[in-house]
Amino acid sequence: MRDQILKLQEASAALEPNAQTRAAWTGAVHKYAEEFIDQIDQLNAYDPGDGKEVLDLPFGEKGHAMEDILQTLKKGMDRAGINPASGGHLGYIPGGGIYPSALGDYLAAVTNRYAGIFFANPGAVRIENALIRWMCDMIGYPEGSLGNLSSGGSIANLIAITAARDWKEIKSRDVENAVIYLTEQVHHCVHKAIRIAGLAEAQVRYIPMDNAFRMDADLLKKQVAEDLTAGHRPFMIVASAGTTDTGAIDPLDKIADIAEANDLWLHIDAAYGGFFMLLDDLKDCFRGIERSDSLAIDPHKGLFLAYGLGAVLVKNVEALQRTHFYRASYMQDAAANGYEGNPADLSPELTKHFRGLRMWMALQLFGTEPFVACLKEKHLLARYFHQEIQKLGFEVGPSPDLSVLIYRYVPKDGDADAFNQNLVEKIREDGRLFVSSTTIHGQFWIRLAVLSFRTKLWHIDLLLEMLGEEVD
Ligand SMILES: *Cc1c(COP(=O)(O)O)cnc(C)c1O
Repeated sequence: MRDQILKLQEASAALEPNAQTRAAWTGAVHKYAEEFIDQIDQLNAYDPGDGKEVLDLPFGEKGHAMEDILQTLKKGMDRAGINPASGGHLGYIPGGGIYPSALGDYLAAVTNRYAGIFFANPGAVRIENALIRWMCDMIGYPEGSLGNLSSGGSIANLIAITAARDWKEIKSRDVENAVIYLTEQVHHCVHKAIRIAGLAEAQVRYIPMDNAFRMDADLLKKQVAEDLTAGHRPFMIVASAGTTDTGAIDPLDKIADIAEANDLWLHIDAAYGGFFMLLDDLKDCFRGIERSDSLAIDPHKGLFLAYGLGAVLVKNVEALQRTHFYRASYMQDAAANGYEGNPADLSPELTKHFRGLRMWMALQLFGTEPFVACLKEKHLLARYFHQEIQKLGFEVGPSPDLSVLIYRYVPKDGDADAFNQNLVEKIREDGRLFVSSTTIHGQFWIRLAVLSFRTKLWHIDLLLEMLGEEVD
């Protein structure tokens, strides 16, 4: 058997390439990355390619050359579809990709440190928890609050909603009578989370909104009272701090009053909007946010990190633990060796990516100043567009509290929805910019979402120019 093992040792040695091979591979990847960043302003924000070139390299017993792999990626992956790294990405909620995220991920992958349990890597867990506490401080949550770094806002919302369910002791038999309050503008991942959490049969009340798409707190209060009278069991409000469609922030302070008075769990989805709290002059819009029980926030949006980093923040850590803590017998060594808010006890994940390192690296290298400046720039770009697009004769939604807004053109004759849909398609055909649309009260609207750190004044001017050409 020893002979066989030694033979296999030789055959598997390829998995640990030598320094020369590593340098060649890393060099090629680095060159690729440099070219990508150098050309980013010339690359399209949207390309209609279908990406099938990635299938040109089949999996087999033997590997391929790095050059072939990178060529294939370039053709099939990098040049097809939406380019979230482009400053021309002005649709959905744009992505980021600041360079230190890549460096943090690189080190996280090479060292492969495990950030789930304090005993396994106290430093990694301290890094993740320090980031979570930094965000808790920004929100105004008290000491002792904690949470979890998730892959994104969807999972962050799911973790919070399951914790709310368990803390409020909504058992299976209670579900049909349990009541959840939200608005039609809540992100669709909240609906998914409600379903995944086994709450699909709960009563979901859509509270009407004011004309800036914010929850009407008076009607919320009335609805809760009615539900109580009817013998239902209200247990959770999901409010938004920055909706995806229009960037609206619900009246959080008033909603918190209602949550408190009725002992309801208040969860806030701040996946998109949360980091705008770093701007002193926008803090007021978020008044009351610190009174929530839990909150979802996305560093891969508002901190411009690469995709794959969201966070759930929870005031009462015990509630998170009630849902997520589990001690299996094969984990007994870990349990005996210290505890510093083990991420594995506060989320469904066990073995996980050390995703905090990319955020830590970015905050350490840059400090907060450039982030604050960049968020402010995005906010002003959206306000500038809101002002300028009206001069071209477009209708607009509310002036942007943050950096998302809606607009549409109503032509003298013909179908306005079709006209605006055509505008969106024209911009996609051109490819330099990418915009998305939405339907509100049955009407087609074009959205502007400025959140890429690379979106600059010239992108907005280009969009205004392109739209201007289509309507005069
Ligand atoms: C993006 C977004 C989500 C979903 O977050 P992911 O990171 O995409 O999973 C949830 N809520 C809001 C308001 C968002 O903008």
